[in-house]
Parts: sequence; C-alpha cells; structure tokens
Amino acid sequence: MTKFGAHRLDTLPAYLFNQLEWKATAMREAGIDVIPLAFGDPDEPTHPPIVEAARQALLDPGTHRYSTNRGRPEFREAVSGYYARRFGVPLNPHSMVIPALGAKEVIFNINLAFLDPGDVALAPDPGYQIYTAGPVLVGANPYPLPLRADNGYLPDLGAIPASTLQQARVLYLNYPNTPTGAAATSEFFIEVVDFAARHDILVVHDNVYSDITFDGYLAPSFLATPGALEVGVEVISLSKTFNMTGWRCAALVGNADALDTYRRLKTFVDSGMFGAVQLAGVAALDPEMDSQVAESVIAYERRRDLVCSIFNRAGIKAEPPKGGVYVWAELPGSFGSSFEFCEYVLDVAAVATSPGAAYGPNGEGHFRMSLTVADDRLQEAAERIVAAIR
Ligand SMILES: *Cc1c(COP(=O)(O)O)cnc(C)c1O
Repeated sequence: MTKFGAHRLDTLPAYLFNQLEWKATAMREAGIDVIPLAFGDPDEPTHPPIVEAARQALLDPGTHRYSTNRGRPEFREAVSGYYARRFGVPLNPHSMVIPALGAKEVIFNINLAFLDPGDVALAPDPGYQIYTAGPVLVGANPYPLPLRADNGYLPDLGAIPASTLQQARVLYLNYPNTPTGAAATSEFFIEVVDFAARHDILVVHDNVYSDITFDGYLAPSFLATPGALEVGVEVISLSKTFNMTGWRCAALVGNADALDTYRRLKTFVDSGMFGAVQLAGVAALDPEMDSQVAESVIAYERRRDLVCSIFNRAGIKAEPPKGGVYVWAELPGSFGSSFEFCEYVLDVAAVATSPGAAYGPNGEGHFRMSLTVADDRLQEAAERIVAAIR
C-alpha cells in the first residue's frame, strides 16, 4: 500500500507479473546476461528513409508548435492511401482517420470514449492486457471470450449470455492474434459484423500485426468485411512493422461517427502527435518501404522456425504462428503454473519470457517468447530453456 493513490489502481490485475520484469532488470544490473524475450520490441533500427524524413521534419520550425488531434493532412492521406492499396478499403482521410500515440494509447482511451461505468467490454482471453485493464480503469466490466485451439482461437459469440449482451458496448478483437499467433477466417469476420449490428456493439479490431504474416498468408483488414465500416474501427501501429516502438506512431480508422466521438474525448486528453513523427509515419507508409517490411517478415519467419524446431525436438509443443513476433508454447512437464515456469526459466536459464496467465486465465498452461533478438541470441535462448528443463 502507498499513501497516495486511487482505489481504481487496486483493481488492476497482474501485479504479480511485474515481479518477473523487476527480477530480470535486477539480474541484468548484476551483470547477468539475460536474453530479453518477454516483450515484442524489434531489435533492428528504424529504416533509414523514415529516420531521414523525421530529421528533415525536425529542422522545420513548423513542426515545433502544437499539433492538432485531427492530425496533419499528409499523415491522414498516407494512412488512407495505405488502406486503399493494401486492403482495398476506402477511408475518407478527413473523417475516417485519426493519429494515435501508439496502439496502447488509443486502446486505453477508447474505453473512456465508449464505455460508461457498469457497461461491458467483450475481450479475448488470452489477449493484450489493455483490452481488460482499460475497461476496469473506467469502471466498466471486461467479459472474457475464451480463445481455444479447438475453435481456431476464434471466440464463440453465440455463447455470450443475453444479459451480458445487453450491457456490452465494445468488442475487442485482434487478428493476426497475440499471444496465440492465430489468423481469423473471413466467415468469422462476417459473423462479427452481423453480431455487432444486431446488438449495437462497437467492434474495435486491433490490427497491429496484419503486415507481419508467414507462409504466404496475407491478413485482411476487418474493415474490408461487408458492413464493417458501419460497426467498427480498427487500430494500426507502425511500432512492430517498421521497427518504430519508441516513436509512438499509430492510427485509429473506420466508422466516422465513432471517430467523431473519439476526437471529442482526445481534445481533453493530449495535444496530438509530434509533427515530425507524423511525417516519419508518412515516409513509413510509402509503397517504397514494402521491400524493407518484406525483409523483416523473412527474418521473423526464419526465427519462428528456428524456435519451433528446437522446442518441438525437445518435446515443448509450439504451433508455428501465422503472424506476429512471438511464439506461443505449451508449458513442458511438471510446472504448476506459467508464472512458476517463467520464473524458473529466468532464474536457471537467464531468459525472460512471459507467462500465459498474464494474458488472461485461458492463457494459463502456456508461455510467450518474442522473436525480437538476433538469430544467434534467439537460438541460444531456446537452447538454454531446453537445457534448463531437462
Ligand atoms: C505491441 C502491441 C500493441 C501496442 O502497440 P503500440 O503501437 O506500440 O502501442 C497493441 N496491440 C498488440 C496486440 C500488440 O502486440
């Protein structure tokens, strides 16, 4: 307990899991060679043309003053152009695109904009923590939608009780999915549009991994589903695709009415994205960058195969993900919980991974390991884990 602090914070889950991160930091400070695979944070630098665009923009005093929450026309047009080119989705750059200071920021603020206390947000379990922590922080209730291997990690919308549906205002989805690595089918997205329309629910599709996919799979935008623009918004982020996690450059796109609401909130939250970052974003979304992204994808696919083959040979079950920058693996042998396993692997192998239970109760029995270190380090990490459990 601390002297200063709102009770609201006591309702946040997963305090336990921060302990692993503190421990990893303490070990590193003590000189131990910890391989950091608990988070997806690309190891390669941002591509030079993007950095150069930002450098030029930084020298222009026009970027030094307040931005607007609406965003620069160049940025909104770049996002709209990307959606047309990549997904065949027409987005009016004036009304259907707004910059976001990272996917995390926008996903949190969506809860303030669209949920009243007591409302329900439907959220995948396992899933990115902000889909559940966000609703909790605004006094709403997250309702977990179990993702299971036997239904392809797609939630069973028909299993949600009618009383819950009456209170549900937002549905979070994320495909290609983290942490499971699963892809959505177009039949599922069609079902989601129908479901959302019938129950007046805003669909929020977290699409941050649509450009990091493997085995020739090309992920769609949810917004390409017929009727989706009537019921949904989508979040894209440049963080993982363009090695830009530190820049905080993302966008919320889709239903114009929802974006109006969101803009109204944002006026009171912050003063927009730094102009130089927006102009870096414009450079990133240029078709010229496609080949750089393709190279990153090849590297992640190679690393994925490396880890999965080392694990599978050692009897650790890990299905190769369809997309994303992680491997989602089953706990081997006799470990009681994913926390216990990750703590053991950190202590004995000096590899930081993240426990499946940190993503929700249905994540228990698994651990997640990111692919965002060089191949030789990743191989060493996987081999250290295998040696530690032998
Ligand atoms: C990394 C990640 C985010 C956060 O992205 P930022 O744009 O860096 O905030 C959001 N959703 C998922 C599923 C992620 O893996």
